[in-house]
Amino acid sequence: MIIHKVTDRASGQKLAAELFIAASNAKPKSPVGLATGGTMEGVYEQLVSADFKPSFQHAFALDEYHGISPESKNSYLNELTNRFAKALEWQGELHAPGQGDFAGQDGSNRFEELIRKEGPLSVQLLGIGTNGHIAFNEPGSDFSSRTRKVQLHPETIKANSIYFDNPSLMPTEANTQGLATIAQAEMLLLVAFGESKKKALTQAIHSPDQTTPLAALLNHKNLVIVTDLEI
Ligand code: PGA
Repeated sequence: MIIHKVTDRASGQKLAAELFIAASNAKPKSPVGLATGGTMEGVYEQLVSADFKPSFQHAFALDEYHGISPESKNSYLNELTNRFAKALEWQGELHAPGQGDFAGQDGSNRFEELIRKEGPLSVQLLGIGTNGHIAFNEPGSDFSSRTRKVQLHPETIKANSIYFDNPSLMPTEANTQGLATIAQAEMLLLVAFGESKKKALTQAIHSPDQTTPLAALLNHKNLVIVTDLEI
């Protein structure tokens, strides 16, 4: 594990974008894994500023709300279409669990199959929730979990409902890559800023157990953490 301690969020987002570009350009035809959330917004802006020109054809989202329209402003597929694909003028294919071909009973298996066929991913971007979730693998998730439908934790619902015009209509289920799915990427690039993430990050690193999903990834051969936190 490599930890890059940065002075602030903006410099961390710039560094994360540089590391992402380097990892992707080293394996230009390999797909990448993308994350969503406030932390990632600045990372995608930095990719645009760096004039990143992806050469890969496939990108895989970490997770998506269950049953949400891909046109909804709260859809992660929509967010990545705008912040990544359109912003970089990239014409490739963006895949999100539970959306399009990946809806329905066998959708998660089809998502896993496509990652196996096109992968491994050169780099997977990751955030961490204030409760420690990785993608929508909430505390207690099986370390050998695969892409599947999950129930969101009350803390996740509270944290994310602020993004919904009507918070009570926020989905309480999601489709997410599993922890074992995520671990297949050649590089894991975890980005976390601010005191609100400190407890989740330090617990996972210093007292890893079943309640800290990041623990499943700590032995990964290339886990890189960019943070402004003393951990
Ligand atoms: P955030 O979300 O970047 O909006 O804090 C991260 C996460 O929940 O994984």
